[in-house]
Amino acid sequence: MSSSSEQDFARYLGIHRVIEPRGTLPQPAWKLDNTPSAYPTETLIYVQKLHIDSASFTQIARMCELDTERMGQHIMDIVTQRGKMHNPVTGSGGVLLGTVEQLDADFGREHHLTIGDTIVSLTSLSWLPLSLQRIHKIHLERAEVEVEGKAIFFRSNPLAKLPGDLPQALVVAALDVAGAPARVAALAQAGQKVTVLGAGGTAGLLTLCALRQKLGSNGVIIAIEYSERALQDIVDLHVADVIVQADATHPLDTIEQVRHACFNDGYQADLTINVVNVPDTEFATILLTKPDGRILFFSMATSFTTAALGAEGMARQVEMHIGNGYMPDCGAVALQLLRDYPTLRTIFTKRFGASI
Ligand code: NAP
Repeated sequence: MSSSSEQDFARYLGIHRVIEPRGTLPQPAWKLDNTPSAYPTETLIYVQKLHIDSASFTQIARMCELDTERMGQHIMDIVTQRGKMHNPVTGSGGVLLGTVEQLDADFGREHHLTIGDTIVSLTSLSWLPLSLQRIHKIHLERAEVEVEGKAIFFRSNPLAKLPGDLPQALVVAALDVAGAPARVAALAQAGQKVTVLGAGGTAGLLTLCALRQKLGSNGVIIAIEYSERALQDIVDLHVADVIVQADATHPLDTIEQVRHACFNDGYQADLTINVVNVPDTEFATILLTKPDGRILFFSMATSFTTAALGAEGMARQVEMHIGNGYMPDCGAVALQLLRDYPTLRTIFTKRFGASI
């Protein structure tokens, strides 16, 4: 590569904004330059909401004992220290909602954008320079933070324009985890037995619907969930064949409960999807999967060391996928599920509100 095309590629990725350590990509970098105005090849977004990744939000909420003032201060501290909302404990980010304030012409052409458009990032917050003027409110029940701030997008960063036919709050929630249903739809095959851990969460419910569409009436969907409220939502959705209340951090109990619910008839799945928001669920996931089956670890609370060494210690040649949040559909699969399943829309409205 010539030095000018190398420079162009570095700008395309955003490496020029990395302060520490110099030369790394923006996502793994510790600190970014979050100066709130766009340099050439950049796009500036006026940010109104952060939808913080569930693993990150849960960790911050627990650490601050659900005190929203402390949580707000902690979020401010992370953004001040790092120039981005990148939780140093979980390593994860989330998505933002905002409007286009300054637009790079090439980026605008690629994404059909104009100044003033409302967008949702499909790039993790852990990649995007962010500065926050203030935090207005934290909604504990939906991992949402109302803010006033500015973010920078580089040419490499995917985003989605808000569709006109769905409420904003539902779109933001679905796009945060859109990679899960899209990837599951690509991985599942007709006739399979598929288990979803954390099935009553945002990604879980979308995944259950994507699976039902892909498997049709063939195949079996086993939904595992911990919380009572989320279990009732799974029941109301009518897409899972077997529903089990279990704590996936206790692998042996979880297996026993699933075995019992399946009447001892083949409790292990061809494909298992992990969409929980807490650590220590790798063993249950592996043990609930056939030795030659597949796993999608979408959860950001997954330890890939534990998963890999766990499978090795149990002599399982199971194929393990990392849940990459990006799919080329740019959220279309997830948003279509909201249109196709009115009950899913009702549950999301109850959880996230119906702001337009
Ligand atoms: P969510 O709505 O919080 O759903 C997680 C679900 O798991 C909740 O219903 C939760 O129940 C349940 N759960 C918690 N502990 C459990 C346990 N021990 N056993 C069984 N179920 C348990 O989270 P989400 O927004 O769907 O996100 C799911 C995961 O995807 C998170 O880890 C998030 O970080 C990750 N994520 C990954 C990507 C990616 O690119 N790979 C992108 C976005 C999000 P409670 O309601 O009781 O907590």
